[in-house]
Amino acid sequence: MNPTASALVFDVMRYAIHDGPGIRTTVFFKGCPLRCAWCANPESQKPVPELSYTAGSCLLCGRCAEVCLQGAITVKDDRHEIRRDLCQACGTCAQNCPAGALTLLGRTVTPEALFDEVTADRIFWDRSGGGVTLSGGEPLAQGAFCREFLRLCRDRYISTAVETCLQAPREAIEAVDPFVDHWICDLKIADGARHKIMTGVDGTVIRNNLDWLAGKRENILVRMPLIPGVNDPPDDLDALAAFLAPMQAKVVLEIMPYHRLGESKYERLGRDYPLKGFRPPAEDHVESARNRLRNLGLQVVPAAR
Ligand code: SF4
Ligand code: SF4
Repeated sequence: MNPTASALVFDVMRYAIHDGPGIRTTVFFKGCPLRCAWCANPESQKPVPELSYTAGSCLLCGRCAEVCLQGAITVKDDRHEIRRDLCQACGTCAQNCPAGALTLLGRTVTPEALFDEVTADRIFWDRSGGGVTLSGGEPLAQGAFCREFLRLCRDRYISTAVETCLQAPREAIEAVDPFVDHWICDLKIADGARHKIMTGVDGTVIRNNLDWLAGKRENILVRMPLIPGVNDPPDDLDALAAFLAPMQAKVVLEIMPYHRLGESKYERLGRDYPLKGFRPPAEDHVESARNRLRNLGLQVVPAAR
């Protein structure tokens, strides 16, 4: 199989109503260049298949340990243990688990196969003005696939949206741009040093790419999570507004309160949640941040989700 013609995805969500106009089908790509401490989709980060284990569903029957050729699973004394360093992500244990406690996250698709899969939803798109949204993870990390898939959509007059962290080569953005109807771009933290601590990169590439995109496109939806103590101090909001000011006619800013809904996923992947102890902000605090940015001239909308 041509590696540029396939991609690793971990979910296809139907009837999505927050990922662009109308009812949409959202495809989640696996693999992301960022490591945001607040990430609600940790299963999207690594560009390889991963095993997810839900302890609450497990019967401790030991079937998974019996079929694992790598010896990566032990079930003993009411304890279920996965040696993730030994796991080859073959998926045999998940196929044999009678309780659905194990899931292999990540499957390879071709543009044509994914297109056939999602177009079963076409009736909902046509009635609602919706379409397909590519999200992740970072779809542009698998840019050649995205270009080909989006081209197939464009050829059939299907509305397309791409949700991206913009930590991507400019060429990848340029290559897909002709086939994208709606850009949804994430913005995290104005301060570069704090951006690096909290996401792994300093945000320069992201800001430069947004600046470039706003130079040629309109109606770009920019999404920012509001995280207490991380990006909500007034000085940070003012710096964000100053950066967005030259493109304020081109972007609509959506401020979403930080939430902890993804926390249990870390446990299922055998990882620690990085923001233990962080609390979601109160709604009036979020609204006051929105108002501060509105007063600085930006178009700000409440979170759609
Ligand atoms: S995915 Fe394969 S290698 Fe990994 S624990 Fe399951 S059976 Fe073993
Ligand atoms: S096969 Fe499934 S139910 Fe049985 S021990 Fe393994 S994870 Fe638990």
